[in-house]
Amino acid sequence: MLAPSVIEAIRQQLCGYATLAIDRQTGQRKERDFHIEWLLTELTGCEAATLVNNNAAATLLTLTALAAAKEVIVSRGQLIEIGGGFRIPEVMAQSGARLVEVGTTNRTRLSDYREAIGENTAIIMRVHPSNYRVVGFTADVPLADLAALAHERRLILVDDIGSGALHDMRRWDLPEEPTVLASLKAGADLVLFSADKLLCGPQGGLVVGRRELVERLRKHPLSRALRPGKLAILALERTLQLHLRPELVDQTIPAYRMLTRPLDHLRKDAETLATRIREAASGVEAGWRDDVSYMGSGSLPVCEVPTAVIWLRSKRWRASGLSKKLRLHDPPVIPRVEHAEVILDLRTIDPADYDVVVGAVSSVACPTCPVGGSDSQEQEGQGRR
Ligand SMILES: *Cc1c(COP(=O)(O)O)cnc(C)c1O
Repeated sequence: MLAPSVIEAIRQQLCGYATLAIDRQTGQRKERDFHIEWLLTELTGCEAATLVNNNAAATLLTLTALAAAKEVIVSRGQLIEIGGGFRIPEVMAQSGARLVEVGTTNRTRLSDYREAIGENTAIIMRVHPSNYRVVGFTADVPLADLAALAHERRLILVDDIGSGALHDMRRWDLPEEPTVLASLKAGADLVLFSADKLLCGPQGGLVVGRRELVERLRKHPLSRALRPGKLAILALERTLQLHLRPELVDQTIPAYRMLTRPLDHLRKDAETLATRIREAASGVEAGWRDDVSYMGSGSLPVCEVPTAVIWLRSKRWRASGLSKKLRLHDPPVIPRVEHAEVILDLRTIDPADYDVVVGAVSSVACPTCPVGGSDSQEQEGQGRR
């Protein structure tokens, strides 16, 4: 979900003319990601930045341009797979770089990296385990130590931090996530991250860091194939502008607004909404309770954010059937099913959409409406309760 001001900028762009690739001072052609680069230097202290279609593309481009036919050292604890089957070792193979694995799943030491460096090594790469945690008997190497080793041996240190937090998440009582700034400060030469996770921009992948390296990526033929369209560039530019005012981010960016809504507001709204649903949708039992939300999308995997949820039970439909009807409603409402209940998480619903939710539940649960239609699945559970 993009911020309303970002959507308005896109609307204007679609209706008018684009100055994307022109330097208005000189009238000359310029890099398309010129403004984005300037904003990221302000936000993260980087020298240079470039945007591609997603972080997978950023990884592929970085490895291809800087390490094809060379070796890249990665800890075995960081050879991750993220959603949709994106696997670090497979991207590495695609780039033509040779993966050199060091350490073990739970423990990797600086000496493991040191011993793996050879004549053909180009990069030491760290990958943030975005969507899982290894706990217990574990050890990994602080980024600053990796940076010292890499630079002593004239290697490039690449840090794939995944979710791309621009601010310390503890500011909003959320668990710490690696920030772009901290990674650059610790000595990473290039930092890779998604534009659409904690940054809340359009789909995109950012590479920020040393100018000379970013220029090598820009000049590589693959960068043309991976470059985003002008609407994505504009959406990112406007989203980054919102991040320049971190104290307002929990108001200007919808996901942050939802993440930071106080629990007592959610509880109060849950109670009101459950009552409205009971009144509007006969045949549905509804109530509310406390629960937890998860961030998902490769950020904060073990973080439980307190929330209030509404539970629904129908006398007529099983939870899976009721949930399917809500998904097929126009506009769709996507709940989760837990045990025999349909669950609506208030932290994920904009108050502006409460009426839509009540309307959807009452229309799909209507007891006098004819059962079924062509889809026999919808009839499951009929008469069983
Ligand atoms: C999410 C993620 C990626 C892939 O990012 P996309 O923008 O979805 O391609 C790569 N590396 C890490 C560590 C991630 O968390």
